[in-house]
Amino acid sequence: MFENNLKHPVFQLIAKATDETGQSAFVVGGWVRDLILGRASKDIDIVVEGSGIELAGKIALELGQPHKLVVYKNFGTAMLKASGWEIEFVGARKESYRNESRKPIVEDGSFEEDISRRDFTINAMAISLNNKNFGKLIDLYGGMADLEKKVIRTPLEADITYSDDPLRMMRAIRFAAQLNFTIDCESFEAIKRNASRIRIVSIERVMDEFNKIMLSPHAGKGLKMLRSAGLLREFFPELDAMQGVDVVDGKAHKDNFFHTIQVLENLCKNSDNLWLRWAALLHDIGKPRTKQFDSKIGWTFHGHEFVGSKMVPRIFKQLRLPLDDKMKYVQKLVLLHLRPIVLSETVVTDSAVRRLLFEAGDDIDDLMTLCEADITSARQEKVKQYLRNFRLVREKLAEIEEKDKLRNWQPPVSGEDIMETFDLNPCREVGVIKTAIREAILDGIIPNSREEALQFMIEEGKKLGLQPKNNAN
Ligand code: ATP
Ligand code: MG
Repeated sequence: MFENNLKHPVFQLIAKATDETGQSAFVVGGWVRDLILGRASKDIDIVVEGSGIELAGKIALELGQPHKLVVYKNFGTAMLKASGWEIEFVGARKESYRNESRKPIVEDGSFEEDISRRDFTINAMAISLNNKNFGKLIDLYGGMADLEKKVIRTPLEADITYSDDPLRMMRAIRFAAQLNFTIDCESFEAIKRNASRIRIVSIERVMDEFNKIMLSPHAGKGLKMLRSAGLLREFFPELDAMQGVDVVDGKAHKDNFFHTIQVLENLCKNSDNLWLRWAALLHDIGKPRTKQFDSKIGWTFHGHEFVGSKMVPRIFKQLRLPLDDKMKYVQKLVLLHLRPIVLSETVVTDSAVRRLLFEAGDDIDDLMTLCEADITSARQEKVKQYLRNFRLVREKLAEIEEKDKLRNWQPPVSGEDIMETFDLNPCREVGVIKTAIREAILDGIIPNSREEALQFMIEEGKKLGLQPKNNAN
């Protein structure tokens, strides 16, 4: 019995109202699941045998202001917002599906019919809000047992459930990744059989679930499931193509998919930034296209960071991910992901550190976090060695940053300064001089000061046959 968890006045009011009208009402789905899991939530779904809109209106009236009621006539639902809670009322319904669409034909139905159309047993439990058995758990499909066994299972036949609404395949894996559950064997086989039907679902909805998987504590596990179920290749073939190992002359390269997953898992321990997780997912995406075998050194992936970063915009577009600064951030991290490793392997020069600071800007810390996650050697002493070197790189970064303030740095002489000095219109020479000044400062040839930079500008101009306008020098 859960009556002690139903203290919110809305629940009491519903009990009173159903008593008066003779309807039945239940709190169902995710809220019940999360209550039992001890994850309190403020998203509540109420199913009413009868009109959900009518009941919601009655409750809103009783509660009075400032409670906000929004009615969606077309969907037959109403949403009541009250001090952070979002309570959705809907009439019990039954659904029938057609082959070509995941949108069912919806008709009024009984409470039992409504419960049976739900995706998983753990999401198909309800708690009664009726006076005669207020707080009673109604578990028609063994959801409680499945919660205890930590298993995702469909209430009705799995093949039909997934074929009717293929988005449920993504949801199954999403819940497994969020809750660290397994998917029932039979159910997983059904997902494999129905994987190609994910194509009838809009990419936006698929990616909504995909990003929930990416953000979940067990994102790596979810991604492995997406691949082995055959879903990944349907909507994200570039990532699927990372899997596999080639062997030539007895030499194998590492499996880039499983390496990527390990990097993502390492990163998940240190960051819940969705886009940094995306950078981890895509950091080696250029590897399949740059793979070559060299009889002397074995497998190489030369330039995979460039090729990979060039692939990012197309992948984001195809998956309807934002094409704004989030995409640019991922692209930048993919491009730079080898730089701290290269730094840590050589003598760390000031100029190499300056360059990295200049190119990474404010994302330098995220880049370092990504690179540390990228160390996946099975040899512990090698991992330790790398992490030690990274600490040195971090120290050096902090030291140079303190000294030169190069984060988000702009060179002290602008294009306008150059045009003004040499009396030029915009032309190639302006760019040449500007680049020369920037490089000289990054390389430590001249200090990062306006005075020195102006002097250097005049010398560079002279090399190009240019004279300062008022020929002071
Ligand atoms: P969360 O809110 O954490 O995403 P949830 O289980 O509450 O999890 P919602 O999308 O809010 O998920 O859906 C609420 C309930 O509606 C679910 O618990 C489930 O009973 C049902 N449901 C949602 N989507 C589907 C679907 N595609 N097929 C069948 N039932 C679904
Ligand atoms: Mg919910």
